[in-house]
Amino acid sequence: MNRIALVTGGTRGIGKAISIALKAKGYKVAANYAGNEAAAKAFHDETGIATFKFDVADYDAVAKGIGEIESQLGPIDVLVNNAGITWDGPFHKMSKEQWDKVIGVDLTSAFNLTRLVWEGMRERSFGRVINISSINGQKGQFGQVNYSAAKAGLIGFTKALAMEGARKGITVNCVAPGYIDTDMVADVPEDVLGKIVATIPVGRLGKASEIGDMVAYLAADEAGFVTGATMTINGAQYIAG
Ligand code: NDP
Repeated sequence: MNRIALVTGGTRGIGKAISIALKAKGYKVAANYAGNEAAAKAFHDETGIATFKFDVADYDAVAKGIGEIESQLGPIDVLVNNAGITWDGPFHKMSKEQWDKVIGVDLTSAFNLTRLVWEGMRERSFGRVINISSINGQKGQFGQVNYSAAKAGLIGFTKALAMEGARKGITVNCVAPGYIDTDMVADVPEDVLGKIVATIPVGRLGKASEIGDMVAYLAADEAGFVTGATMTINGAQYIAG
């Protein structure tokens, strides 16, 4: 296997598990991050995976970052658009900055990254684009109008782009995790988290490795007929149609 995979936000949480799952399958992995140097270093020391710092919301920074990755590792065959943030608040108090920031990191990033690897994937007649959406993009969530809009946007992005990639050997899919045990969820107050777990029929939070394993499946040659799909992984908390 000499395929190259880029995982945005690949140094922590779900992204870290995705990076590890892809490495275990033999991919040469590049893990991107925003600025948490300590986490990136710890990740690199633990996994040996190369890390690249750039802001996924900034098109020019992404172009530079992808240029560095491709010159060090080679052309990107598998892109996992995983980096994401929340900045919650009720809509009547949501600022323009709060909206723009979340849409930029969680949705515009998918345009930035994918646009910059897409032509290469078309030329090589192979590609895998995997977008990490969320249960809250499927069902909506109080206080997350910005986040839910961005994550629902990724599902539409996936469906439309899957049609364009199909004849070129490029699949485009979404994974929509439910509540996964990561730093993002650790920020949720304990009493709120208890109430959330009570609504998950499987009775627990998901594990980041469960998302990593699905991404590794979607990246594989064997998944070439799976495209335009949204894989819901949420312990039956919300059963999407
Ligand atoms: P974490 O907060 O644990 O990790 C986020 C990662 O994204 C970090 O590597 C971080 O880098 C990186 N990142 C954040 N902003 C940027 C940016 N502007 N440019 C580049 N990298 C950035 O997140 P999770 O692992 O919890 O979430 C990963 C994805 O899964 C997100 O898209 C999230 O929305 C989605 N998701 C998560 C769920 C959960 O329960 N945790 C549920 C459903 C979806 P750095 O370390 O430098 O800050």
